[in-house]
Amino acid sequence: MNDPLIIVGAGHAGGRAALTLREEGYTGRLILIGDEPHLPYERPPLSKGVLQGTADLAGCSLCDSARLSELGIEHIAANPVTQLQPQQHRLQLADGQWLQYAGLLLAIGGRARRLPQAQANVLYLRTHDDALALRTALKPGTRLVVVGGGFIGLEVAATARGLGCEVTLLEAGPRLAGRVLPPVISEALLALHRQHGVDVRLKVALESIQADAVLLMDGQRLPCDLVVVGIGMQPNVELAAAAGLDVGQGIRVDTHLRTSAADIYAAGDVCEFRLDGLYQRQETWRNAEAQGRHAALNLLGRDLPFEALPGFWSDQYDWGLQTVGVITPLTISRPLANGGLLLFYLDADHRLQGACGWAPGNSAAKDIKLCERLISARLSLDSASLANPELSLKHLLRG
Ligand code: FAD
Ligand code: NAP
Repeated sequence: MNDPLIIVGAGHAGGRAALTLREEGYTGRLILIGDEPHLPYERPPLSKGVLQGTADLAGCSLCDSARLSELGIEHIAANPVTQLQPQQHRLQLADGQWLQYAGLLLAIGGRARRLPQAQANVLYLRTHDDALALRTALKPGTRLVVVGGGFIGLEVAATARGLGCEVTLLEAGPRLAGRVLPPVISEALLALHRQHGVDVRLKVALESIQADAVLLMDGQRLPCDLVVVGIGMQPNVELAAAAGLDVGQGIRVDTHLRTSAADIYAAGDVCEFRLDGLYQRQETWRNAEAQGRHAALNLLGRDLPFEALPGFWSDQYDWGLQTVGVITPLTISRPLANGGLLLFYLDADHRLQGACGWAPGNSAAKDIKLCERLISARLSLDSASLANPELSLKHLLRG
């Protein structure tokens, strides 16, 4: 009997890859292995709808169990892969069983980076079960300290304010989400959170977390009931590193998402690939979706280079952030009539390379879709037209 294709990691990228393999006509044995007890699900609602109580696990799942059975996808849940032997094309599960594979995808994501102090009142947010624990703890009047002004911290702060919590947010850096967002958007986020009553503090150094307070290096004591820590994601590289695969800040892949072992691919948060000449990981929904799908095609021998544009969104209160492409030093800014802002990133030939939209609700999405088309069109664009809110992006697209 032929060996199966195996996907390790039943999250977003892994789930998408399994579904794609069937959609693309793969009829052989297909095994999807996860360490969580759930069906593959998407994580964005965890810090938003699931925390608010307006979304549930079924709503986040990529498919239900009936669909998995119908497609003949064997889902092994709550049973992590503990060992990989690339030379022998086999892996071992926590329950001790060994499985041979014909091709393998590692879509094992990452985990929340932890503070060295372990305290009962400190919670993290990566999984659905984390979100449920946090939802139970967030009550009107709860005094919450959020450590980290990245996306987890900001989205949790916004949701917690909506639930009536008192929120203080501590960021180590000089601005919010400073590694991924331009200063003008960090400032807009700061203003929005302060308007909504979050006590945001920048350049803060944490001394320790106690049962009923957070202590800062400058001697301040912040009394609280609960601490949520969102200080980044740690990619799950250990399995690949122990198996001798090439690993940097993630599992390294070539342009086809193939790791240093020819029949093993990687996708999603754990995958370190070259973008704009540099090795990097993309910790986004869009990347998990695109790479999961792409790795599946290449597992089927399509041999396609991965060229998808990066991008992400974030929803906070009643505002939305949308980005596409890459940030370049040449930036043109366009104010929007609704109080929002569009930023265009150009190369030396004035071709659009990326864009960022910040606007009420989901209203930036339409402009960012048009920017995506402008990036593909590779037109040389005039700065004054880009900056002019009266001139529609559709008009620019027509050249
Ligand atoms: P994951 O979804 O983490 O899946 C990896 C799976 O592999 C996990 O289930 C993990 O437990 C499992 N695994 C790990 N090791 C093993 C092993 N040895 N054996 C078996 N299984 C294993 N992105 C956006 O663009 N917009 C958003 O608004 C947004 N919101 C987010 C909100 C939250 C709370 C979080 C946590 C992330 C958010 N993201 C958002 C990021 C996005 O969800 C991730 O980039 C995406 O989930 C990555 O998918 P993945 O499949 O690579 O990893
Ligand atoms: P993150 O976006 O990397 O942000 C972590 C933030 O915490 C950074 O601003 C970091 O500052 C700060 N920080 C680090 N150590 C700190 C400390 N000791 N005290 C105070 N601040 C500290 O990571 P995250 O917010 O934890 O999110 C985790 C993962 O979920 C990421 O993969 C993220 O992309 C994903 N996610 C995405 C979205 C979205 O795209 N909308 C939403 C939620 C989650 P420095 O940068 O200066 O170190």
